[in-house]
Amino acid sequence: MIGFDYRAPDSLDAVTAALDELGDDARLIAGGTALVILMKQRLVQPAVLVSLRRLTALREIALENGNLRIGATASHRQIENNPLVQEHLPVLGRPFVASRHHGSATRAPSAGTWSTPTPTRTHPQP
Ligand SMILES: Cc1cc2nc3c(=O)[nH]c(=O)nc-3n(C[C@H](O)[C@H](O)[C@H](O)COP(=O)(O)OP(=O)(O)OC[C@H]3O[C@@H](n4cnc5c(N)ncnc54)[C@H](O)[C@@H]3O)c2cc1C
Repeated sequence: MIGFDYRAPDSLDAVTAALDELGDDARLIAGGTALVILMKQRLVQPAVLVSLRRLTALREIALENGNLRIGATASHRQIENNPLVQEHLPVLGRPFVASRHHGSATRAPSAGTWSTPTPTRTHPQP
């Protein structure tokens, strides 16, 4: 049995406060599709998981002053299907088409891909 605490703050300030408080004992979790596997394999053993799930603003994709801003928890499928990505940065959407595992593509945010060297990763590093 792997024991850990779980926190789900409802603001970015609360997330950063939790990370400051917990230091190396904490690990961010977004979709959990990579981290949970690493935990099951005991390659990563955080004492506390700090979830990003309640930070809905982090899922947004927007165009600001000509720059495309993709929230850290926007899912693979959301990026692939987003009209702004298709219009302004179509090359970015293409690798996400490779995410054909439906559950992972709809649940898994892009930041998890970019911050973990998982063997299943198909996306380019920013
Ligand atoms: C069946 C299956 C199919 C998959 N198919 C693909 C695929 O086709 N292409 C692909 O690229 N990957 C694939 N993956 C791997 C995985 O789903 C992706 O890498 C996914 O994007 C991970 O995101 P996550 O939010 O689930 O990460 P999590 O598991 O929540 O976190 C992974 C790591 O990223 C860190 N992290 C998460 N969010 C942030 C953040 N906002 N800021 C800083 N650190 C953060 C966490 O602390 C953790 O270390 C697959 C996995 C499975 C199980």
